[in-house]
Amino acid sequence: MEKSIYKPFLTVVILMVLASLALAYTVDVALSDKPGVIMKLPDTLEGWVGNELRYCHNEECYSETDLGGQYYLRDLEIPDICPDCGENLYSMSWAEYGVLPKDTEFVKSAYTNETGGRMFTSIVLSGQERSSIHRPQRCLKGQGNAIMNEHTIEVPMEGRKSLKVAVIETERVYATAEGEQTYYGYYAYWFVGQDRETPSHYARMFWLGWDRVVRSVSHRWAYIAVSGEREAEGREYEQEIADFVQIVYPPILVGNTELGGTSNDI
Ligand SMILES: [Zn+2]
Repeated sequence: MEKSIYKPFLTVVILMVLASLALAYTVDVALSDKPGVIMKLPDTLEGWVGNELRYCHNEECYSETDLGGQYYLRDLEIPDICPDCGENLYSMSWAEYGVLPKDTEFVKSAYTNETGGRMFTSIVLSGQERSSIHRPQRCLKGQGNAIMNEHTIEVPMEGRKSLKVAVIETERVYATAEGEQTYYGYYAYWFVGQDRETPSHYARMFWLGWDRVVRSVSHRWAYIAVSGEREAEGREYEQEIADFVQIVYPPILVGNTELGGTSNDI
């Protein structure tokens, strides 16, 4: 008997959700689409020095140079000009430029510290087409990584609720002069909308539709990733991720008190 009381209610809820999602992808209303982050990674952080990455789109540079047409901003005499061919440099690689919508924004920086630590940090901000963000698993595999483990960690954040971060453990085998070597890496990521954060690609897709209809908010989702090297065994690297996220994340959040951002409104 109990079943029959709830069943019609449940059906209505499911229909509402489906109708909302259908509307979300078909109706174009006046939407608020302010990004939740600033597209600028700090030059320095407590104990860390950042070095932004730039890419040359000239075929000779990306196919024939050691780093595949990748340059560090601090090494360049003239910022944004390729030292090998003299053409303009970009914030995304030629391969990324080829597959992503042209209004996608990108910023990448390699942070190093005095003890030899290295943290690659990137922000991808989706444009109007919303197809700028793919599941990271796909890209990692495309780059030759094997995915060993996936889980979520909670990073305590000062003065606000903790941040959930998705973590992928990777392994990649390199051929070197001394034989094969394995690089043990991690890739940590989360998504940020105007006032939403989630480590889940699917939750992001849901909020994209829901907020568009229910709140007239069209998220330009930012996809933030932090990656580096780990030991073959153990999870000590999780603390390294947490320590780094605690200092890199607050300065890039746009004045959103809900998510703990400062008031650097733009
Ligand atoms: Zn070049």
